[in-house]
Amino acid sequence: MPNLLCPAGHVIDLSVTPTPGERVYLPAAEWDDLVRDLARAALKTGQDEQLIAEAISDALAGRTRSFYECPVCGRLVFPDETPPLGCEPVPYPEADR
Ligand SMILES: [Zn+2]
Repeated sequence: MPNLLCPAGHVIDLSVTPTPGERVYLPAAEWDDLVRDLARAALKTGQDEQLIAEAISDALAGRTRSFYECPVCGRLVFPDETPPLGCEPVPYPEADR
């Protein structure tokens, strides 16, 4: 498995499974389709919890994409976007008092 380079030049090692700092996301426009796929997957498998879990996992894996938090600088790297995106970590603003 290749490495991934964050925008600051740090190497994110993708050879470890699960990759530390890996997250998944879903385009919001695909939400309804995903829910439909999950319902269908659960209905097809009957009552076996393990089979339902596997079907749901397969449906999620087919619709979600991964992004990675750089372990050095905390940037978020989205390799599946075109072009690949790298986002700086942004601190939460101070709460108004
Ligand atoms: Zn980095």
